[in-house]
Amino acid sequence: MQEHNRTARWHCDPAEAALVKLQSTPAGLAEETASIRLGKFGPNRLPAPPKRPAWRRFLSQFHNILIYVLLASAAITSLLGHLFDTSVIAAVVLINAVIGYLQEGKAERAMDAIRQMLAPRASVLRDGERHTVDAETLVPGDIVLLEAGEKIPADLRLTVAHGLQVQEAVLTGESLPVDKQVSSVDPDAALGDRTCMAFSGTLVSSGLGRGVVTATGAETEIGRISRLLARVETLKTPLILQMDRFAKWLTGVILAIAMLLLVYGHVVVNLPFAEIFMAVVGLSVAAIPEGLPAVLTITLALGVQAMARRNAIVRRLPAIETLGSVSVICSDKTGTLTRNEMMVVSVVTDQHLFSLRGRGYEPRGTIHLDNTEVSLSEHDPLREIGRIATLCNDAVLQKRDETWIVEGDPMEGALLALTGKLGMDPKRELSGLPRTDTIPFDAKHRFMATLHHDHERNAFIAVKGAPEKILSMCSHQRIAGDGKGPLDLGYWQQEAEAIASRGQRVLALAVKPVDKTKTTLDYADVEQELTLIGLVGLIDPPRQDAIDAVAECHRAGIRVKMITGDHQGTAAAIGRQVGLNNPDRVLTGADLDRMDDQALSAAVAETDIFARTSPEHKLRLVMALQSRGMTVAMTGDGVNDAPALKRADAGIAMGLKGSEAAKEAAEFVLADDNFVSIAAAVREGRTVYDNIKKVISWTLPTNAGEAMTIIVALLFGMTLPITPIQILWVNLITAVTLGVALAFEPTEKNTMRRPPRPKGESILSAELAWYIILVSLLFLGGVFGIYNYALAQGYSLELARTMALNTLVVMEIFNLFFIRNIHGSSLSLDAIKGTRAVWIAVLTVTAAQFAMTYLPPLQKLFGTQSVPLVDGLLILLTGILLFVVIEGEKQIRLSFRRSREAKQLRTGSPESAQSKENVVRL
Ligand code: ATP
Repeated sequence: MQEHNRTARWHCDPAEAALVKLQSTPAGLAEETASIRLGKFGPNRLPAPPKRPAWRRFLSQFHNILIYVLLASAAITSLLGHLFDTSVIAAVVLINAVIGYLQEGKAERAMDAIRQMLAPRASVLRDGERHTVDAETLVPGDIVLLEAGEKIPADLRLTVAHGLQVQEAVLTGESLPVDKQVSSVDPDAALGDRTCMAFSGTLVSSGLGRGVVTATGAETEIGRISRLLARVETLKTPLILQMDRFAKWLTGVILAIAMLLLVYGHVVVNLPFAEIFMAVVGLSVAAIPEGLPAVLTITLALGVQAMARRNAIVRRLPAIETLGSVSVICSDKTGTLTRNEMMVVSVVTDQHLFSLRGRGYEPRGTIHLDNTEVSLSEHDPLREIGRIATLCNDAVLQKRDETWIVEGDPMEGALLALTGKLGMDPKRELSGLPRTDTIPFDAKHRFMATLHHDHERNAFIAVKGAPEKILSMCSHQRIAGDGKGPLDLGYWQQEAEAIASRGQRVLALAVKPVDKTKTTLDYADVEQELTLIGLVGLIDPPRQDAIDAVAECHRAGIRVKMITGDHQGTAAAIGRQVGLNNPDRVLTGADLDRMDDQALSAAVAETDIFARTSPEHKLRLVMALQSRGMTVAMTGDGVNDAPALKRADAGIAMGLKGSEAAKEAAEFVLADDNFVSIAAAVREGRTVYDNIKKVISWTLPTNAGEAMTIIVALLFGMTLPITPIQILWVNLITAVTLGVALAFEPTEKNTMRRPPRPKGESILSAELAWYIILVSLLFLGGVFGIYNYALAQGYSLELARTMALNTLVVMEIFNLFFIRNIHGSSLSLDAIKGTRAVWIAVLTVTAAQFAMTYLPPLQKLFGTQSVPLVDGLLILLTGILLFVVIEGEKQIRLSFRRSREAKQLRTGSPESAQSKENVVRL
């Protein structure tokens, strides 16, 4: 089969011939045949792009301007004969590279695993039944079902096509969707003209279809060009790129200062070249934050993993940062804020409102009228409701391990269960009235219609959809005894409102007899003259955990808006249950259409519930919110949601019910469709940003403090309080321990109690600059203070240096504890308890310092001396002092900020629209 794929020209043979050639039938393959074929043809996946070999990945760790400077320093020190210094620098570089290599490998594996979570699925017919399977298990001969928004999972010869349009840009470059049909085309037709074929990797933009798989994996058309598509994701975000640029700039500055000092020391102060050169090397090594790129990568990778654990899969890395600054989340209702476990509980006929009882999708239950159980035989109109509910339906109910589950749309599953609960057999209804044609449901038209012929070839159309829509298409209504009378619009509207206000989703069911010769269905056929049969009301309870997540978002200054296609009564009721603001204020799609952009921008500030919207409204809402300076996260599932998802700052697609088109347009995919996962992802986004900031805030003043110690000493012609080799050691030992520990920081307690950070805020802010200067000066003061104290005590130069060196390290450790809680207080029990990573780092550094200070062989190498106990305590005290000063300064700054925010809240005079939105919700 597949062997002759290249020569077989599926597009010029009729569909039936393709089925024969592929030894398949319209009912699909048998499960057994499929698994035999899977063994023969292999999985339906494209070969993975070749990975970079390990040695290359290792070498790339050295490809960094900061490292080049260090390597050059190592080369020169070895030429000068300072071999020990050379080996310490080499150790710094090597350890850094090893850590970078290992962490990068881990991060890449994590990304691969996450990509696996996004593995596409496909609907197939096997043994005549519809199943959803991993697209990788498709084999030639499988019958695949296609719907709008799906990505075509393999090359298909179409056997059915209803209004099927496919976007083939990946393959042909043509961005307009192509109409597909079933009849064969010219043998010489180019790829883009093979309208009876659907190719793997292209997207269904509208309609319904079915096709038999002709080729899978590398044999598909896309497989042949897949080399061109292999995409390498790098762990880069705007922030990391900003840091990369900063690192280059910093290196330039460091080198310039180093050169100046070299000239100054040698020419002006007349120091021997070798000595001054070693000091300058020490300076460069001290000032270069060589560990920073690796630690930032680790921070980001850990963030991606943490999000994946919380069911938010990151498709585009830069978006992680955006997520942390989101100030409004626009969420779908069904399945996101609610459980999407539907059950029909009300049925309205022209005379009665029935209630139904039962469990989940189990097709068994009881019918009640005014709390009294009744039977189907007493109320004949129910029979037609059960029939239409089954006919105009694409879902399948299956019993697995004693529970009933739905293949397809849960609402349609609930309608099948309804037929069972009414005491009818859905299969029998279907077999007597086969379907001839379909108008599939789409969010814009809000109805679905099917054409049926009975065995006498009488034909009729079954329709279901949103009540307003269906009522506008009806002229009559069914009255008891199979007759029909004029439509009592007021009655039905009132009933629909009443059910909706209880939070139920309302559907109307209608029919229309047509001529038996009719075999195709158009919109014109159903737009008028329908006969309304009745209404059904479905419950879909809110997710309990979503209620808590909405409250959490509100506390975090994030507004939550619900944008739903559902009825406004239903939307308001659910909105109230999940705790949205102003649940009584609902705007409908029609209201939005009447507003110009300016009016809309004003309205979105006060409204949190939007009902009966179509996907186009989502796009307008995103733009209106953005025009108010807000950072918008938007969820979506349908193919038409793609523009809004693309436009939003953080587009979030649904993993379970979302179409491939929505997933491709989004930055994130929610594996469980749950609103809770959005809130969790925002929390993780804020944590990642905080941790990146913490890593930078710890590293830069540490390096600056070390460097300034050398600069000051050289400029003032003093002996160095810390020798270059000692600085190298400190750098080596602290950068890989204390620096890395910050990447593992958990979420701070108040992370979701702060307003979102303003859009476009630079990480290298004035606040950070001030902090770097303050801490560097304190480092300088501490080191020189202890050093001079030691000399004043008459201690040897070696001992004074050892004490200065240990002071530096102790201050770095205290600075770490301060940084960990940069947004709150560091004086709580939790803050002192720290994390495992922090304590491992602190213990390692302490052990290393003790070894260097007290072990004779190391004393010899580094020129250190044992520090007396009392002086050791003094050093510790210096660290504590540093902590007290910076913590005190932070507390004063934070209390100023809090009172400013509280004032804004009282006076309502925020600095910007965005801060108003945020503060109001605090
Ligand atoms: P969201 O997921 O955005 O909260 P939704 O899923 O409730 O919205 P849509 O799927 O756009 O909204 O459905 C809008 C309306 O269309 C529903 O309230 C219902 O009346 C009708 N509808 C939904 N699905 C179908 C279907 N399969 N057949 C017929 N009508 C449907």
